[in-house]
Amino acid sequence: MRHVAVIGSGPAGYYSAEALQKQLGDDVRVDVIDRLPVPYGLIRFGVAPDHQSIKAVSRRYEKVALTDNVRFVGNVTVGQDVSIGELVSLYDAVILATGAPADRPLGIPGDDLPGVIGSAAFVGWYNGHPEFADLDPPLNVEAAAVVGNGNVALDVARILSKTPAEFESSDIVGHALDALRHSSIRLIHILGRRGPHQIAMTPKELGELGHLEEAAPRTDPADFPPEVDDALLEPGVRKSVMHLREFASIPADKKKVIDFDFFAMPVAIEGDGKVERLVVERTRLTDDLRSVGTGERYEIPCGLVVSCIGYQTPPIEGVPYEHGRGRFANCDGVIGDGLYCVGWARRGPTGTIGTNRPDGFEVAEKIASALGRGNSGKAGRAGLDALLESRKVDIVTFRDWQKIEAAETARARSGSPREKFTSIADMLGALGRQ
Ligand code: NAP
Repeated sequence: MRHVAVIGSGPAGYYSAEALQKQLGDDVRVDVIDRLPVPYGLIRFGVAPDHQSIKAVSRRYEKVALTDNVRFVGNVTVGQDVSIGELVSLYDAVILATGAPADRPLGIPGDDLPGVIGSAAFVGWYNGHPEFADLDPPLNVEAAAVVGNGNVALDVARILSKTPAEFESSDIVGHALDALRHSSIRLIHILGRRGPHQIAMTPKELGELGHLEEAAPRTDPADFPPEVDDALLEPGVRKSVMHLREFASIPADKKKVIDFDFFAMPVAIEGDGKVERLVVERTRLTDDLRSVGTGERYEIPCGLVVSCIGYQTPPIEGVPYEHGRGRFANCDGVIGDGLYCVGWARRGPTGTIGTNRPDGFEVAEKIASALGRGNSGKAGRAGLDALLESRKVDIVTFRDWQKIEAAETARARSGSPREKFTSIADMLGALGRQ
């Protein structure tokens, strides 16, 4: 028997568990460990609550989780309840699938003012992540600035724009829905430091902005290169740019505006004890398509700044880390003897949910060929259970999670699939534990 520990129960974690099952069949036991009592990581806490069809991929992970050779071990924090060194000695292989749940800092003066929020925190807030449930972002302001030209910026701008009715079939958490209902934000700036041809937004997500009840997107035709240049773009980007061009002619007859500011690089955030304005420098593109400042500056009055400029993997003590790229130092998923990484922890925060699948399969193949079949004599899950029991760690199993899930479904508001518990105490409370 081979024993593998996967740390993190998001897409990368479950695709790895699935791949290990395929590679090693009944010869493997996989423990999927998560610091929270609930599984699915990015699917539960990252994917936007109004994108339920994307969240449905969790049913695939559920199938994997319910097989005999895969086990969910929730409510266990690696680095606190058990160390990496201990896991490496208990299991034949340890896979870090910890994602990239931390914000990259903006790194400009004033980025620590109240009202400046990273997307991990903001997205975590509306998705009910226990760490960010109390965020209380300032929504009693006229204007917000969303920094970045990726899909997360689009998610944030869309969530800030929607009416309560537009959230009907979503699983946005009650505290966020209530706060957004009372929001006075009417102008949302989306800032890109480069131009429309350099966006990282995908067409479907961008197209959604054109169909909002109370908000209309707006672009400035002066920001675009000549239309013939669009032909040189990769098809996905070309479609996105088509949407952006259409946004220039959408009538300005809605209550809220989502304004795309291109060639706009935030250089400072100012205000008296809280955000009041963003100072922006105009940029131009270099021949190799980087952005450089032109020296021309202007101010955007706003009371909320959400930076959506990418994520990083939090380091784990004892695991080599690449600071520049915010991920574990690895060679094709291999960190060292018996230690591997997959997904965003391996590649950095890029690609779709499906991109994690080949990662999982590649690492499973490497593990299978390194280990072969047979018995290593490692203690595996029996060893972990003994260790956690001795430390009085209250683990949550997949069956426990199903009880939490049933309780979340039972308390859902009408039209919504669930009302998530937003604290670990409430999650454990649904199991009758304190
Ligand atoms: P992203 O796609 O990498 O976009 C990050 C954006 O931030 C880029 O426009 C980048 O501009 C900009 N940026 C970086 N540093 C900056 C700085 N210091 N100042 C100003 N702008 C800066 O990252 P993301 O939006 O966080 O998304 C992460 C991944 O999740 C992506 O693969 C995304 O497609 C995926 N995702 C998908 C969906 C969906 O499919 N519905 C939803 C959300 C996220 P430069 O290009 O100039 O560097």
